[in-house]
Amino acid sequence: IPVASFDLVIFGGTGDLARRKILPGLFRRYCAGQMPPEARIIGAARADIDVTTYRDMIGEAIAEFGGSTSVDPEDLNAFLQTLSYVAIDARGETGWRELAKQMRRKVVRAFYFSVAPGLFGDLAERLNNHGLTDDDSRIVVEKPFGRDLESAHQLNQDLAAFFDEGQIYRIDHYLGKETVQNLMAVRFGNMLFEPLWNSQFVDHIQITVAETVGVGGRGEYYDKSGAMRDMVQNHLMQLLCLIAMEPPARFDPDAVRDEKLKVIRALEPVEPHHIVRGQYEADQDNPEEHPDYRTAVENPKSRTESFIAMKTHIANWRWAGTPFYLRTGKRMVARSSEISIVFKDTPHSIFGEEAGRHRNVLSIRLQPNEGIKLGVTIKEPGPGGMRLIDVPLDMTFADALGPDGAENVDAYERLIMDVIRGNQTLFMRGDEVEAAWAWTDPIIEGWTNRGDVPKPYASHSAGPDASAQLMRRDDRDWREVT
Ligand code: NAD
Repeated sequence: IPVASFDLVIFGGTGDLARRKILPGLFRRYCAGQMPPEARIIGAARADIDVTTYRDMIGEAIAEFGGSTSVDPEDLNAFLQTLSYVAIDARGETGWRELAKQMRRKVVRAFYFSVAPGLFGDLAERLNNHGLTDDDSRIVVEKPFGRDLESAHQLNQDLAAFFDEGQIYRIDHYLGKETVQNLMAVRFGNMLFEPLWNSQFVDHIQITVAETVGVGGRGEYYDKSGAMRDMVQNHLMQLLCLIAMEPPARFDPDAVRDEKLKVIRALEPVEPHHIVRGQYEADQDNPEEHPDYRTAVENPKSRTESFIAMKTHIANWRWAGTPFYLRTGKRMVARSSEISIVFKDTPHSIFGEEAGRHRNVLSIRLQPNEGIKLGVTIKEPGPGGMRLIDVPLDMTFADALGPDGAENVDAYERLIMDVIRGNQTLFMRGDEVEAAWAWTDPIIEGWTNRGDVPKPYASHSAGPDASAQLMRRDDRDWREVT
């Protein structure tokens, strides 16, 4: 179903994110017939280039990052005709009149701030001063949304000076993933799980987001951020909220976000000994190309973590006593994002301990191979008597729904279409972001005050040994990263 016609301005339209994600995503929506052919995309960035050069640049980006399906030159050409370009200065006056001239009336106006957060306030102010926005205009802002509570609060205020909360779309692309939305469908569309979804039946929950890549070219940014700010405060926190929240009364933006906010506010402060921080070592097979973390960020004394594992609790009736274990890191053994709900043991084994015992685990896999798996205990086939084994009820989307069912809709393209539709459900509200920082800040301050030094871990491993010990102390194990 096509969305309403729109003018989408991408500030930072020549940048890495625009070329790798935003424009290839829009191209796929164009090919799918969801982007109306008369919609307009206006790249706005610092480079002084003309529209032909811009279209060539984006054409090349789509060929390179457009995904596995081959690009039809006719489609691409038609899509590129929807693009125009304005050289603009977010901090000055260059380009703003030209931008105003290019924009049409009576269509949805959306402005994507794909630039450094330091420019958000300047852009908001100039959009307003040049009369480019009306009450229905939307702005989309990228992470990082602040680096602590104070800066996030300031960003919120800078935007609130010119826009209502209902116009601000804070992107967390994890929320745009198909399986993340499926998590809500599984929880609230089935009778099966929700009655068990509490501390009475759930032993613990694990959320792992493992990457194989190191910091790459983002060293300078990353070293000022670290895994806590870059991943936990936003992506892992959002996943935790969707797992832990109460059923909202309706699937509407504020009902959902109210429930998520309650979860964040109920998070207990984390004890220092419930956190393990790590920094990756050089890849032994290729230390030149994949050096250790400190070399990669060119800071030999860096105390920034590229890995974090932690245990936290949610202080409410549903989850009291059920630990949530969070883990994320770079240069780990596999690229894998998975949430596992580990259920308790059956209260009594009628088969005797020698038959073996298995816990039911519901695994929600975000990447790769998006899907949901439920471990069920059955009898081992054969004449060996009653021996129990664990088999997966496996619903990998590509298998269950066919290759088209697991339609290759990237998080960004889904979220941009939601912006045009005016649906904020999958975007973070300002108070959520601030609450997440309010929980994160004391943890980071504690490290700074104590002079905490991250523990080294081998490249392509599951992180420092202390991470496994964090679990073992509780008589539990991390799920294997595969
Ligand atoms: P980039 O450095 O590749 O591009 C920056 C863009 O901003 C360029 O188009 C540049 O012309 C424009 N710009 C810079 N100063 C400007 C000014 N004064 N006026 C007008 N335009 C100006 O950055 P990026 O990697 O595309 O990231 C953009 C934003 O998205 C950042 O906030 C970043 O943190 C965020 N982000 C990026 C990624 C990613 O994968 N690249 C992922 C998540 C979030």
